[in-house]
Amino acid sequence: MENEKRESLNFIEQMIENDLKSGKHQAIQTRFPPEPNGYLHIGHAKSIHLNFGLAEKFNGKCNLRFDDTNPEKEDVEYVDSIKSNVKWLGFDWDGEFYASDYFPQLYAFAVQLIKDGKAYVDDLSKEEWNEIKGTPTVPGKESPFRSRSVEENLQLFAEMKDGKYQNGEKVLRAKIDMSSPNMHMRDPVLYRIKHVEHHRTGNDWCIYPSYDFAHGQSDSIEHVTHSLCTLEFEVHRPLYEWIIEQLEIFPSKQTEFARLNLSYTIVSKRKLLELVEGNYVAGWDDPRMPTISGIKRRGFTPESIKNFVKKVGVARRDGITDVAVLEHAVREDLNKKTNRVFGILDPVKLVITNWPEDKEETLTAVNNPEDESAGTRDMMFGREIYVDRADFMKDPPSPRKWFRLGPDREVRLKYAYIIKCTGFDEDENGEVTTIYAEYDPETRSGQDTSGKKVKGTLGWVSVKHAVNAEIRLYDRLFKTENLNDIDDDFKNHLNPDSLEVNTKAVLEGSLASAKIGDTVQFERVGYFRVDEDSTDDKLVFNRTITLRDNWEKQQGK
Ligand code: ATP
Ligand code: MG
Repeated sequence: MENEKRESLNFIEQMIENDLKSGKHQAIQTRFPPEPNGYLHIGHAKSIHLNFGLAEKFNGKCNLRFDDTNPEKEDVEYVDSIKSNVKWLGFDWDGEFYASDYFPQLYAFAVQLIKDGKAYVDDLSKEEWNEIKGTPTVPGKESPFRSRSVEENLQLFAEMKDGKYQNGEKVLRAKIDMSSPNMHMRDPVLYRIKHVEHHRTGNDWCIYPSYDFAHGQSDSIEHVTHSLCTLEFEVHRPLYEWIIEQLEIFPSKQTEFARLNLSYTIVSKRKLLELVEGNYVAGWDDPRMPTISGIKRRGFTPESIKNFVKKVGVARRDGITDVAVLEHAVREDLNKKTNRVFGILDPVKLVITNWPEDKEETLTAVNNPEDESAGTRDMMFGREIYVDRADFMKDPPSPRKWFRLGPDREVRLKYAYIIKCTGFDEDENGEVTTIYAEYDPETRSGQDTSGKKVKGTLGWVSVKHAVNAEIRLYDRLFKTENLNDIDDDFKNHLNPDSLEVNTKAVLEGSLASAKIGDTVQFERVGYFRVDEDSTDDKLVFNRTITLRDNWEKQQGK
């Protein structure tokens, strides 16, 4: 038992368990630290589940901390969306913090470093710095300003803060080691001048801490025990540790894990912003976007994301996850939860000629065969119905190859009767306009006394009760599998067929009362969610996902 438990722990859980057992920490504190410069995406979901999940598992705490140190790119719109996304994923934070709340403390830390001779004000321009900084194999040269006195540095830094200098005129650097093989240790920037208004601190500050100077110190201020970040920050770890050591503050520890990369998907806020700003999509919450807001609107569920993240696991090496794994998790969850209804995307009328003109019958349909508690519903059946054009062939192959409808062929209408096709009308282009059939009164579902056996069962919608809707059929936003591997602009890889709008679909009458956010399965077609664009006069459905993965087939693979 003990062993089984041990085996199922990932390397971070293992480390935490050891830290708790050894008494290094009494309890753990984690944090999710987004920069509010865009909407969260599916990659962030992994980090959220990891940080909040660990706090849950080990009875610790997890903060939500906004890493808001780049005012020109940040906005409260993003802060709000991030909070609502984290909640939607099923988590609540212990503390809600902002790196900007720590600006006075961070400034004091910087002053302390200057006083200790560990930081200096540098006047070199970016270009001049690039000339002297060297390369990983060639040591850098020291800035001529490196040897300024503590007093001079204190004065210049205060003047930077007071707005005496223009953007880029000066920076504050840590004084570490210009010949370190790690470029991040070659006198990294701690503060830069930016005369930009901040979405929280307004114009209080015109100097802002760098990522490296804000991040670890914020962790430390919050007593974060385990600071988890993605692998690209591994090279920043020595600096993270150096600053904490110099300041002698709470020793938060950074651990890296592999970021989530998904096939056919972009996971970068910066690039997603480009899609939004260039109107390649209808906004951050466009249902094709891999943002949390987008996949929510599309009809993915928080549980499916949780199952997906669990399946992907936590690794120490980068890889690319097949988007089919995510889609599978979504299908699995929706299969359990959604009611089955009839929705016909390409309808053609079918008249049952031996059914009396005005007669209607109430039939009983099962809502969800996977969930008995979902119950049943009434469906009205009458003389005129719609069936899907794809379920009819004018000249079908042998009955062993074609179970559906065609002249003289018999099928069952689900929950209703067996019908036999007696003919059809077509227009001048050969397109079928009406199908004619006769029903067999002995074959009503559940009360069939005919002994007839048919192989095909069709969905249908009563013409009299049909509801019209706009159906948005989504496909993958990108047509290229590995978007990390491309040399050209990622926008060249957009799938031109990622959205098809269908306005001819007909839905069964029960959907007249569908509400925004409802998810259903159109039998044999896919899963759909009622979109926010729906109005009292018009329902809009998003196709969340097809029933089966037919991407490879479509691509002719
Ligand atoms: P982006 O490049 O999309 O802006 P980021 O890493 O700059 O991503 P942040 O807002 O700084 O975005 O990230 C918040 C947290 O989410 C960080 O701890 C980061 O490591 C994590 N994170 C971001 N992208 C991924 C991903 N694809 N997989 C796992 N974790 C991620
Ligand atoms: Mg970032």
